[in-house]
Amino acid sequence: MSYVDEVIAKVKEKNASEPEFLQTVEEVLNSIRPLVDANEEKYRKLALLERITEPERQIKFRVPWVDDNGQVQVNIGYRVQFNSAIGPYKGGLRFHPSVYIGIIKFLGFEQIFKNSLTGLPIGGGKGGSDFDPNGKSDMEIMRFCQSFITELYRHIGPETDVPAGDIGVGGREVGFMMGQYKRIRNLYDGTLTGKGTMNGGLAGRDEATGYGVVFYAREMLKHFGESLEGKKVVISGFGNVAWGTAKKLEQLGAKAITISGPDGYILDEDGVTGEKIDYLLELRSSGKNICAPYADKFPGAKFFPGEKPWGVKADLYIPCATQNEIQIDEAKTMVANGCKFLCEAANMPTTNEAIDYFKENGVIVGPSKAANAGGVACSCIEMSQNAEHTIFTEEDVFEKLEAIMVNIFKQSIAACEKYNLGDDLIAGANIAGFERVANAMLMQGIV
Ligand code: GLU
Repeated sequence: MSYVDEVIAKVKEKNASEPEFLQTVEEVLNSIRPLVDANEEKYRKLALLERITEPERQIKFRVPWVDDNGQVQVNIGYRVQFNSAIGPYKGGLRFHPSVYIGIIKFLGFEQIFKNSLTGLPIGGGKGGSDFDPNGKSDMEIMRFCQSFITELYRHIGPETDVPAGDIGVGGREVGFMMGQYKRIRNLYDGTLTGKGTMNGGLAGRDEATGYGVVFYAREMLKHFGESLEGKKVVISGFGNVAWGTAKKLEQLGAKAITISGPDGYILDEDGVTGEKIDYLLELRSSGKNICAPYADKFPGAKFFPGEKPWGVKADLYIPCATQNEIQIDEAKTMVANGCKFLCEAANMPTTNEAIDYFKENGVIVGPSKAANAGGVACSCIEMSQNAEHTIFTEEDVFEKLEAIMVNIFKQSIAACEKYNLGDDLIAGANIAGFERVANAMLMQGIV
């Protein structure tokens, strides 16, 4: 049995109740076979793959808080410190009822290779809670965040572990956590990123993930002889990533024609452009987690209740919502509709079966680890800003972001060429991200 197959079998046995984690481990390990096969003896002896698939540390804690009726509520908090070979653990916090250890481990594992691809010195980690911010008052959110950080503070720090936002955690939540952290530690340091600019946050951090995705998509299209100019783009979600993506698409001459939420999707043939993009922020801050009101506000748009946007014909597809939103049936519809390019903005939005189907049918897939790395890259720039006690301008930030995204695409293509992977940008990104972490681990001995 090959070393990769051996480790996949072991990981499956050890983590049988964590399907999302198993999904990403299988996807990554299968795609780095050419590199592992070339180093099989050494990697096996040093148990490199066993080590890289086992988090360095996992923290699970109780988060008690008092709701507006005076009732005590209890949630579970998590932080998985997955890999610190190339820098302090770095990754967001997700507050969503679906959160359990398997989701945090999948996100933490992906984060290792994503962070490595940025070329910046950040390791991989992720955290969160099964707390649902939707429908909660600001004061309830504040009390939850304060309780969460009152435990987590002892495990994090600017040189140890630097959390940020993810689904359900934006500037408001990070602000509450930062305030409580500062109060407990008496330190105004860069322990959390994604802060508001008046709290030491980075100008442009809110746009960074979506902008980065579109820079990546531009490079991808360019490589295959196309451009963004005039392209119709189906996107999903209506949160921070969808917002930044729609904005940058418009700036670069393309247009998003859909958004989606848990309630259904919106088709806006005129384009989600101009003031309609900023309306997404209003929709989000309503706390209702629905996109239907977009169609009332802009009469040209149509709402399709309970449906996803993947049946709409487009030149490019950018899923911006959550994991596994594109499964085999959606993939079949998209291919039948002539889909040529998919660029993943959400983390692991496509199932492995759907990815295989896309590959068999010649669809080019830009993987999330590469395409959405602009968010965490800008978080690392925020860490530098805080460490230097300075402020970077938005112009500086976007210039750096663009260069990082171009470089991520180049590294992926270079790995494709070196290992004869053809157009497999997923394998290219995984190998490029993995190689850097693996080499750092090998130099640090058995730790
Ligand atoms: N949650 C984002 C991600 O999935 C950003 C993490 C960060 O800024 O640390 O990469």
